[in-house]
Amino acid sequence: MSENVTGQQVDVAVLGAGIVGVSAGIAARQRGLSVVVIDRREPGSETSYGNAGILSSGSILPLNKPSLWSALPGYLANTSVALRWDPLWVIRNLDWVARFLANAVPSRTRPRAEALHGLIGASLKLHREWIVKAGAPQRIRETGWLKAWRSDALEAAKQEQAFLAEFGIESQVLDRQAISALEPNILPVYKTGLLHTQTASVDSPGAVTKAYAQMLKGLGGEVRLSDIKAIEPAGDSWRVVLGSGAISARHVVVALGPWSADILRPLGYRVPLATERGYHQEFTPNPARTLQRPIHDAEGSFLMTPMENGIRVTSGVELTDRDAPSSFAQLDMVVPMARGVVEFGSAVAEPWRGARPTLPDSLPMIGPAPRHPGLWLAFGNQHIGFTTGPATGSAIAAMISGETPSFDARAFAPGRYL
Ligand SMILES: Cc1cc2nc3c(=O)[nH]c(=O)nc-3n(C[C@H](O)[C@H](O)[C@H](O)COP(=O)(O)OP(=O)(O)OC[C@H]3O[C@@H](n4cnc5c(N)ncnc54)[C@H](O)[C@@H]3O)c2cc1C
Repeated sequence: MSENVTGQQVDVAVLGAGIVGVSAGIAARQRGLSVVVIDRREPGSETSYGNAGILSSGSILPLNKPSLWSALPGYLANTSVALRWDPLWVIRNLDWVARFLANAVPSRTRPRAEALHGLIGASLKLHREWIVKAGAPQRIRETGWLKAWRSDALEAAKQEQAFLAEFGIESQVLDRQAISALEPNILPVYKTGLLHTQTASVDSPGAVTKAYAQMLKGLGGEVRLSDIKAIEPAGDSWRVVLGSGAISARHVVVALGPWSADILRPLGYRVPLATERGYHQEFTPNPARTLQRPIHDAEGSFLMTPMENGIRVTSGVELTDRDAPSSFAQLDMVVPMARGVVEFGSAVAEPWRGARPTLPDSLPMIGPAPRHPGLWLAFGNQHIGFTTGPATGSAIAAMISGETPSFDARAFAPGRYL
């Protein structure tokens, strides 16, 4: 049973010990604030555990970009490996779907790419600094990320390269021979590749989040294992109701990833947060056939990442309720495709399921809750939350301290939806 915490007072209570919450805790502690980060599980045990571990410099175009329109007909039959959707979920969430699609136009895409570019740049800087400070530099690999096409996609690769170059993001277009030179252990299934040279990856995102949580403790922050029941305004501070007792905090940071909307509803905030679910499964690698870097199979809509425990194959998007029963249809389709690229053995564990928290514009909420002083929102980091967690958390700590974040955070203001 956890100890009763009633009476504890802190400057900042961070709800959630995923990459975003732990990062907010570190950055608040670095500013001299007293901090407790609360989670019902060990740090980095949920979405921040199961992702593909890519620290992506180039993921500045969200899923709802103009090319989504040409892909839509292929999704209608609901057999696509890239996207599955629950018709009842779509009916219940028509407003979210309409707003998500409304953002997939050129005029709304460029500004979002610029905003995400700033957030990603700031975050990669922090990851590279913190992973060393946290004593886990061996977990980061500066080997880039390979997007690969089975078809002759030279034009598509060149277009993507030119777009990224406009933002100063470097990449290399590769042919079949160059791909084989780069990844000598894969079969020659890919005709075209685009190597994102400034992208890094880690061999265990969960372990990296845990290392950051240890770093937070080393800085004098607290990490508390407890269920969070509610948050209530209490004069000019906040009461955070836990499974056992309540903590008083001057500031509360909501960093509950896909669970963030739940805790805000009783305060009158209806957050349009959907969950783009995804799966992974890990397989024993063949030591003679190792991967050097994550590979994104563009047509197969899956990723393969070499991880500490094996090759992690991750699937595309499933649009349904966060807690609906699992459906392994997409994973079942992509695992044989991955086996056709690199040789690997049996599964090391059961499949894992997670949920990417996504707002209709695919930008996270980073900033103050509009009607409650001392309440800060830090969630909605969609497909790139492991990359963007550190700068998301740091921006909140900066705002709490009255500083300007290190990147332009205006596009992420929660007031745009609340
Ligand atoms: C298949 C897949 C692949 C991905 N690949 C990548 C990738 O390669 N690169 C990348 O940058 N991003 C990737 N992402 C996205 C990324 O994983 C997420 O955006 C990010 O992890 C979200 O972090 P978070 O801290 O907001 O949420 P989380 O890590 O989910 O943390 C939220 C925490 O809140 C806690 N919590 C919730 N409710 C309560 C409660 N009531 N009481 C106590 N605790 C509570 C949970 O236990 C959890 O630990 C991927 C996601 C998926 C699903």
